[in-house]
Amino acid sequence: MRIGFGYDVHKLVEERALILGGVEIPYKLGLLGHSDADVLIHAIMDALLGAAALGDIGKHFPDNDEKYKGISSLKLLAEVKYLLKAEGFSINNIDATIVAEKPKLAPYIPKMVDNIADCLGVNRDLVNIKATTTEGLGFTGVGQGMAAYAVCTIKSEL
Ligand code: MG
Repeated sequence: MRIGFGYDVHKLVEERALILGGVEIPYKLGLLGHSDADVLIHAIMDALLGAAALGDIGKHFPDNDEKYKGISSLKLLAEVKYLLKAEGFSINNIDATIVAEKPKLAPYIPKMVDNIADCLGVNRDLVNIKATTTEGLGFTGVGQGMAAYAVCTIKSEL
């Protein structure tokens, strides 16, 4: 069994869609980034790549590559799945936390779990997504951005 950890931050700005876990969430601000800036999926991708010792998302999906401009991060997550598969790894479980002061994310979490589990081809009970605020403190607390943390375990099938 191998453990991976991922962390990501994106800035909140006007005139961007807010996409978390592949779900478009109605809000006045969205996350800024080269792709759809799905901070949750980016943290999960880094956790999976880390567990497999395959580097990080910047290595596999450079943010100066036009190919990835505006791309759905679910497509990148699918590519990570194939990278792990090619190395003989299967996903054991994923646990992640989104850090955001607003909006309330609880109603959207089941759909995020569905999207991630479907994309990775794993059962829903292997994917856990949580959300927390930072009680008004720090960059997430004042609404300048959102962060996400993820851990995962994977196992070698070889
Ligand atoms: Mg990112």
